[in-house]
Amino acid sequence: MSAQPEVFQFKSEARQLLDLMIHSLYSNKEIFLRELISNSSDALDKLRFEALTNPGLRDDSPLKIKLWAETGDEGRRLHIEDNGIGMSRDEVIANLGTIARSGTKEFAARMAEARDAEGEAAEAPEPAEAEAAEAPAAGADVESLIGQFGVGFYSSFMAADRVVVVTRKAGEEQATRWISTGDGTFSVEDVQRDTHGTTITLHLREADPDNGLQDFTAEWVVRQTVKKYSDFVQYPIELRTERTETPTDDDGEEIEGAEAETIVEWQTLNSMKAIWSRNKSDVSDEEYAEFYKHVAGDWEAPFETIAFKAEGMFAYQALVFVPGRAPFDLFYRDQKWGLQLYVNRVLVKDKADELLPDWLRFLKGVVDSPDLSLNVSREILQNDRRVNSIKKKIVRKTCDTLEAIQKEDRARYLGFWEKFGRVIKEGVTDFQSKDRVLPLLMFASSADDENPTTLAEYVERMPEEQEAIYYITGDSRAACERSPHIEAFLDKGYEVLFLDEPIDEIIAGHITEFEEKKLQSVGKGTVELGTEEERKLAEDARKEKEEAHASLLELIQKTLDAHVKEVRLSSRLKSSPVCLVGEEFDMTPGLQRLLEQSGQATEKQKRILELNPDHPILGKMQGLFEASAEDPVLADYAHLLHGQALIAEGSPLPDPAAFAKRVAELMTR
Ligand code: ADP
Repeated sequence: MSAQPEVFQFKSEARQLLDLMIHSLYSNKEIFLRELISNSSDALDKLRFEALTNPGLRDDSPLKIKLWAETGDEGRRLHIEDNGIGMSRDEVIANLGTIARSGTKEFAARMAEARDAEGEAAEAPEPAEAEAAEAPAAGADVESLIGQFGVGFYSSFMAADRVVVVTRKAGEEQATRWISTGDGTFSVEDVQRDTHGTTITLHLREADPDNGLQDFTAEWVVRQTVKKYSDFVQYPIELRTERTETPTDDDGEEIEGAEAETIVEWQTLNSMKAIWSRNKSDVSDEEYAEFYKHVAGDWEAPFETIAFKAEGMFAYQALVFVPGRAPFDLFYRDQKWGLQLYVNRVLVKDKADELLPDWLRFLKGVVDSPDLSLNVSREILQNDRRVNSIKKKIVRKTCDTLEAIQKEDRARYLGFWEKFGRVIKEGVTDFQSKDRVLPLLMFASSADDENPTTLAEYVERMPEEQEAIYYITGDSRAACERSPHIEAFLDKGYEVLFLDEPIDEIIAGHITEFEEKKLQSVGKGTVELGTEEERKLAEDARKEKEEAHASLLELIQKTLDAHVKEVRLSSRLKSSPVCLVGEEFDMTPGLQRLLEQSGQATEKQKRILELNPDHPILGKMQGLFEASAEDPVLADYAHLLHGQALIAEGSPLPDPAAFAKRVAELMTR
């Protein structure tokens, strides 16, 4: 082995990546520290593992990562040191001269594309203003790429213009020094190093906070960055700090003429507390609460803590919190959400939305898996079977926990439901989770003026002969309660659910059944209630009356032809004279309005006008009709009936002025 430095060329992809790092507009340049600490943590892991079978490999100093800064004649420098496994000369050349990882290769390629765009924008002969507008867009692109991939050792060139690595492999005597200024070549030579491990020295570029490069010789910058990204690394990350002290006498007075002393201390920056990897029984509620506040940026304790682990082939730990309050942006479209994703205590993604379905977007917490790659792109995460299985498990655990609270402490659950019920309801449209979501739902009901009910409780209360779960949609509980459609159901002693939120219109269409009972709108289809015998009798009676009124019904139908597709006698009305109903698969008027409001054009569906056969109005009309089928008042009656039906269900009238005029005429007649 030569004692002279030997010069090597970076492999082309590595050169590309380096180039991109050096010229990056990326605003979080601090992540280089995360990457280097993560490498050190890996090296410590490897040594710890290998020393299990080969104890002679390591000395007896505790495994740790040390950071210290210097600002002397040699310029501003930051050192990152570990006493981990280290690298042999060949390993240095292989590891720090090429890009081995496929993730990073892909990254380099994508980054080159992004930077080409950036370059073009900057080179384009356009006014300065346009340039300024273009550049950040391309920068943001690179930023999102770096954020997604994690870029390893080469990211040190974002902060440094010269990087020196001195490393000695555990079990070997010879150490190696690697030096590069990122310009396409690096040099390697043999050196001395007392212990195994690696020291990386960054000759820092000038600090430029406006472009994301803080001064890493400042203690607070290092402290903050470690806290932010590496707090849970399981080895101590120690920072060298110095303070000067003038010696004092016994009374605490400074001794005149005495020289100030420099006191050096190593302070551990990270808590090392991977609270999620500890057993639930060993962690207090207070500790969980404190951690929750840290990850969620909340100042109050969580509503509920859900911790679980998977072991075996694919291991992970999850710690998930249900917040006590809904965030203000819960229904904002561009809200960012997700859990923190760690790979072996190294944060790789702050808001991994791949881990949650969007109807659980309010959950906070952490997932840590040693089996995932540090270099996870969005595509990889989204398509990873393991990530999907974590997501499924989170859904299951969360739903189970919420269901248990619903059963054991209804008041507490209702507190949760009030804040998050609307988001949970969205889960009904997620076909993968629907069955877990249905038991969580709470609805207002005709059975109880105050307390909402679950579907299961509804089914439990159903009389034996009742076939379906009945519901009505409306703007409010009061509107539902007043609706003529529910009369026959209540009369029969059947409960009706009041779906009174806008989203209910949508979810009602997705809940086709629960516990093998169909969910049915009271405003759709024909109504057949009671035992088989009762139904037959009722149907016979209705048919008979319909025949008796056939000509009148035909006249009404003709009059209202523009508005309704059929006029028939009703079996759902008890006290109201009239109502409008749809066919089983028709849209409700509420849903139709909702779609119209959201700008989706829908074809107006004609509905069916149902008349109460036992209401005196029908008898009155029949009398008028028999006296003179031509009597113009019959048409007025028909329009007024239609108007009443619309008003009763809270729908707008097609021509309110005409309606008012008819009412006035009727009153003066
Ligand atoms: P990654 O860590 O994702 O593999 P890097 O580019 O950060 O990618 O590092 C390349 C390789 O260099 C690592 O896989 C590791 O083998 C080696 N390496 C980097 N830093 C250290 C270190 N502190 N101690 C030992 N080996 C290291």
